[in-house]
Amino acid sequence: MSLKVYNTMSREKEEFIPRYAGKVGMYVCGPTVYNYIHIGNGRTYLSFDIIYRYLKYKGYAVTYVRNLTDVDDKIINKANEEGVAPSEVAERYSEAFDEDTTNMRLVRPTIIPKATEHIKEMIEIIEGLIEKGLAYVIDGDVYYEIAKFPEYGKLAHRDLEDMRAGERVEIDPRKHHPMDFAVWKSAKPGEPSWDSPWGKGRPGWHIECSAMSLKYLGVTFDIHGGGRDLIFPHHENEIAQTEGYTGKKFVKYWLHGGMVNIGDEKMAKSLGNIILVRDLLKEYDRNVLRLLALGTQYRSPINFGTDKLKESETAYERLLNVRRRIEDALGAMTVTRMPEKVEQIDRLEGAIDEAKKKFIESMDDDFNTAAALAAVFELVKETNTFIEAYGEMSMHAQDILKKADAMLLELSGAVGLNLTLPGAEEVDKKLPDTIFDLAGDVLGSTDNKGKSELVDEILERRNIARKEKDFATADKIRNGLTQMGIEIEDTPLGSRWKLK
Ligand code: AMP
Ligand code: ZN
Repeated sequence: MSLKVYNTMSREKEEFIPRYAGKVGMYVCGPTVYNYIHIGNGRTYLSFDIIYRYLKYKGYAVTYVRNLTDVDDKIINKANEEGVAPSEVAERYSEAFDEDTTNMRLVRPTIIPKATEHIKEMIEIIEGLIEKGLAYVIDGDVYYEIAKFPEYGKLAHRDLEDMRAGERVEIDPRKHHPMDFAVWKSAKPGEPSWDSPWGKGRPGWHIECSAMSLKYLGVTFDIHGGGRDLIFPHHENEIAQTEGYTGKKFVKYWLHGGMVNIGDEKMAKSLGNIILVRDLLKEYDRNVLRLLALGTQYRSPINFGTDKLKESETAYERLLNVRRRIEDALGAMTVTRMPEKVEQIDRLEGAIDEAKKKFIESMDDDFNTAAALAAVFELVKETNTFIEAYGEMSMHAQDILKKADAMLLELSGAVGLNLTLPGAEEVDKKLPDTIFDLAGDVLGSTDNKGKSELVDEILERRNIARKEKDFATADKIRNGLTQMGIEIEDTPLGSRWKLK
């Protein structure tokens, strides 16, 4: 099965073929750091976190870049209101963003570039655009001349004439076309500024993403994402700048997430209808928030309401409950059952395979998380049925149940859910941080996982090593864990661990 993604550029689902086999370059526009993020922003970042994790699950090596816009009108305005330096505002909300995304359990992108650290790269592109006659200078400002880029409007599917007709803002008479946009703005007194060939100034918003994506992902990369409100003008302008500058295709697949609405309105600070991620997470588990996002395919809008949160909370409880029941059933004594309940065993084995197949089919269909989640819940239902129907279990029955549990963890983990039972969180707190080093060493990455989860995976890695008779690795792992006070018990059903 191959992955298909909906490309905003073609308005079609296309087969996903990355530029370099096995590797994906992905750029997602990050926040302008002048405020705490609301759950609309949160949903967009969650959507791309899910996409990132699923690409990794499929075996791609992903370079994920999400920038920080740390110089902008909004930051300057906020700083003026508070009477502090813009850099102070930017720093405060960059940290807050980091906290919020960690608390949401978002994987840290590979690179988090800051706009203010890439001014040189931006100036280089602007100089190139001026040289090519695609940008012009007026009194220290530099504008992009959209009429010189014949493909302008191709992403948003708009043409220049429509734009002129739709123009309502006050037109700057110095501009050649009302929609020409600033790539460089001359400095006003008291604003942060940098030296440039056009005098002191600062970059426009769009040029930041052109410069940082080009620097870290190269001339043509695979996925560029953001919420759909960024299609125009932000992404359209990025295309005009980057393609105008390089003369090459900028992005292979444009992915845009749907909005979170409240009532009939988009959630937006300017409308005063926002709920902050940090406030929501005080009341709801982060898995509940993620389940809410997963319940709707990323391109569709979500009409936010407490009913949706309650549904997600129930869904989360069902997932934890089945794990508790599995744990109980696996902890119970086994019986020698003759004959085995073959029908039930076959049925659960079938359900395990079916869940994985449906999950992958759904995710491969433009990341249809709603259908993928339904496949997981089908397995939950079958597992519950199995436990109820089976009664006392044989070793063999426990084995199948263990497989069901592993599949539940595999599929939910592939989209970032963490089904560690609450008791395990206490254990997590007691496990030393050195577990991250060992995990990095033997697993290659830690991907924001909890410590207990990592110990499980490290043990799984040890089992593989033992099966492959790679005893050097197996011993290294055992020694590493023992040094951390983790005791391993090998049973016929696999290995268990506990803290001494
Ligand atoms: P902004 O800070 O407005 O640039 O938004 C940061 C990210 O959140 C962008 O990818 C936006 O598209 C996205 N975003 C903003 N508002 C919403 C919303 N109500 N629902 C979903 N995504 C949003
Ligand atoms: Zn951007």
